[in-house]
Amino acid sequence: MDTRRKFFAKSSAVLAASAAPSLAKTAPAAVDYYDKLGVAKIINAAGTYTFLTASIMPPQVQAAVAEAAKHPVRLAELQKAAGEYLAKKCKCEAAMVTAGAASALTLGTAACMTVANPAAIQKMPVDMAGLKNEVIVQKAHRYDYDHALLNCGIKFVEVTTMDDYQKAFNSQTVMTHFFNAAEEGNIGREDWIRVAHQHNVPCFNDAAADVPPISNLWAYTQMGFDLVTFSGGKGMRGPQNAGLLLGRKDLIAAAVLNDAPISESIGRGMKVAKEQIVGMVAAVDWFAEQSEDAMQAEFQARAKRISAHLQGISTLEAKIVVPETANHVAHLVLDYDHSRIKISAREVAQQLRQGTPCIELNPSTGMKNARGLTGDKDSIVVGVWMLQPGEDLIVARRLHEVLSKAI
Ligand SMILES: *Cc1c(COP(=O)(O)O)cnc(C)c1O
Repeated sequence: MDTRRKFFAKSSAVLAASAAPSLAKTAPAAVDYYDKLGVAKIINAAGTYTFLTASIMPPQVQAAVAEAAKHPVRLAELQKAAGEYLAKKCKCEAAMVTAGAASALTLGTAACMTVANPAAIQKMPVDMAGLKNEVIVQKAHRYDYDHALLNCGIKFVEVTTMDDYQKAFNSQTVMTHFFNAAEEGNIGREDWIRVAHQHNVPCFNDAAADVPPISNLWAYTQMGFDLVTFSGGKGMRGPQNAGLLLGRKDLIAAAVLNDAPISESIGRGMKVAKEQIVGMVAAVDWFAEQSEDAMQAEFQARAKRISAHLQGISTLEAKIVVPETANHVAHLVLDYDHSRIKISAREVAQQLRQGTPCIELNPSTGMKNARGLTGDKDSIVVGVWMLQPGEDLIVARRLHEVLSKAI
């Protein structure tokens, strides 16, 4: 054997030896990086709030994500296959996984603007020549997520009455936008769609936080909305940085052209990794398998367990509130006589936050007339749906402790 061959023979033996441990079936022990970084783990008695990392993926979704992380694939092939699978599951023409509902709002808007003019993808939002850019919206549907549409260089045309709406269409109208959980607005979903379609303009519905019910996954596309988005990390308990854009085939195809991995596009920064694409598909599978009744009954049972534990506290009144549209699940709302229990709802939340374990109550706590949950009283709101098994009693005990001490 010459020196060169000897070297190769030796180095491949070394390679084989060093490769052996990684081929072994036993996974290395996971490091708890929250502990290592000193980040507090919380009990989520709030709900699917982005600032509290929204939801925890069910074990089967976590496992699917971990499995996906082990193998490289072709991104375009995965995006396409995931989209086709999700369209079947969500009973609509076409679907794609986005980096959350906010990304879906941007990509869907970009799709409506460029569907007839793909060459414009590279130019928007800097050079808007030749692009229609007016989005009609009800004044009462303007909200925190407007920015996701404005990213495309659009401007909003606000309407209040049906008459305004009919008159708002012109040659620059590119889309109409509907906020599904808006508490006000004169024009209902079906009228909204009908008028837009008379003008041949597509309608987007932002239903990000509006599952459950599970059937909403298909209700709005079947009603006629051309585009619908759901956040992946909220009620569906998928990865927090994933979401669904559902709708018309030509518009989803146009949205794909505005998305990563295409570099000259508005969506390049909205990349969804293979782990999150797979996680989103697995979450939809998990969610669609759930029984609506069993799921809602479980949330009711948690709220009742907490309320039962607090029963002896004088003047405390517990009621279960289910908001009509977004976060349509049982929440426990606690009211009490503040002259007898001398602590504000906000202070209760603060004490639970500072205790061990750290508990986060619903952010409507101490807020009046908030999100269909509170009235004009200073109420404590417990969101039970993101609690993990056994945590309802921990929350109940802490509430009992803090409230009894204030009597
Ligand atoms: C949460 C939410 C979004 C954003 O969803 P992400 O998945 O976090 O991007 C958009 N619209 C509404 C109405 C929401 O509630």
